Amino acid sequence: MAKMDWWVSMPKVELHAHLNGSIRDSTLLELARELGNKGLVCFPDVEHVILKDDRSLTEVFKLFDLIHILTTDHETVTRITKEVIEDFAAENVVYLELRTTPKKNVSKGMNKKSYMEAVLEGLRAVTTVEVDIFSEHNFDSPANASTFARGNDCASNGTGKKKIYVRLLLSIDRRETTEAAMETVKLALEMRHLGVVGIDLSGNPVIGEWLTFLPALEFAKEQGLLITLHCGEVSNPVEIHAMLDFLPSRIGHACCFGEAEWAKLKSLKIPVEICLTSNIRTETISSVDIHHFADLYNSGHPIVLCTDDSGVFSTSVSGEYSLASSSFGIQKRAMFQLAKNAINFIFAGHRNEMNTSDLVEVGTKGSIGSLVRKEIEYFRRLELECNWAFIESQKTNYMKMDSSGCSCWPSFESCRMKWKKKRRINGGCLPAMCFMVDVSEGNSEKEIIQFSDSETDLGRVLWL
Ligand SMILES: [Zn+2]
Repeated sequence: MAKMDWWVSMPKVELHAHLNGSIRDSTLLELARELGNKGLVCFPDVEHVILKDDRSLTEVFKLFDLIHILTTDHETVTRITKEVIEDFAAENVVYLELRTTPKKNVSKGMNKKSYMEAVLEGLRAVTTVEVDIFSEHNFDSPANASTFARGNDCASNGTGKKKIYVRLLLSIDRRETTEAAMETVKLALEMRHLGVVGIDLSGNPVIGEWLTFLPALEFAKEQGLLITLHCGEVSNPVEIHAMLDFLPSRIGHACCFGEAEWAKLKSLKIPVEICLTSNIRTETISSVDIHHFADLYNSGHPIVLCTDDSGVFSTSVSGEYSLASSSFGIQKRAMFQLAKNAINFIFAGHRNEMNTSDLVEVGTKGSIGSLVRKEIEYFRRLELECNWAFIESQKTNYMKMDSSGCSCWPSFESCRMKWKKKRRINGGCLPAMCFMVDVSEGNSEKEIIQFSDSETDLGRVLWL
């Protein structure tokens, strides 16, 4: 199996994806050309930006400006929603939380509610995959449960189509007023039966004050909606502490934390949505090897890999898993576990509590818990298959070791990785040394086998 195929075939959960940032390049090109023909944008100016894969920060902003112009009518919102769902399903995302900021556009007769109705219309318009957008009670069906359990790879639901579970988060833009934020929360409550499970706070991190949004977020929490916050995208310790004190169900990014903020985050065990490519492209983190993923991963903090804006940053969930694996030298088995753990942080099926140790009542009849249990079983089966393939590959690699003094396994990219201190753009603290560096310093087979708890069992199997 080709390297990327493996990551695509792995069932995945995506919890931090913005609708407007996930638009296909081909669709952007088509829509931009139409606007160009109408004289509303200068098509040659944006064409080359859309066609690029490695956009600079300036080009990223240019693309967001274009998207903002493009997504102001219902038809376009419906179309891009449909396509985004199809694209995530195509790479075996089995559960997706899609977030979007409900918009108003008086000239097109659009208000926040009609915008969300256009999103829902897009979900219904999906043809390549079966979309489940309904609330918890719909999980009662054993048929639904077994379909979810089989994942996107081989789901059979009577229609012969793959299946994806989609839930929606309504975003509050940091440019909004308290009243506007409250309007979004009330809309979310109104649409709960249509798959809306939570609220997100996002937008330009240097605009807006935390206290402006707090009343709406507190109201949302009181009403049982779960909250995720874009947190620490810029260095702002006061806001970061206030956000953590609010006890959101998850936070996104956490790039510009100081020591005190890390300590608080870890003690509260708030799950972090990690978006590697996004952080690099936006230059929030200067290079992937100093990303705080390593520190959070090594310390066992709850994390989930996400795309943020797969279209704008030319990435995919599969690509993020592949990137993390190669950048930090984490084996497929451990990455598989990471993907599996994401189930613990989904918002569907939850009430007002957020205790990561018992987020999901696994096995609860008639709830999403039963689905998740089935999903875990599905993961486990694949994991076993994966382990055997992994063991075979490691045996082969070991046999290839020469006498040059290298005592590490060739497939461990991190064997070559030495921790280099690099300055962070925003002055964030450096993550702890990657645990895999220890591997490169082992001098015997025994040390290799026992390099970490997570791999010890596998090591035992290997050397039996
Ligand atoms: Zn985001």
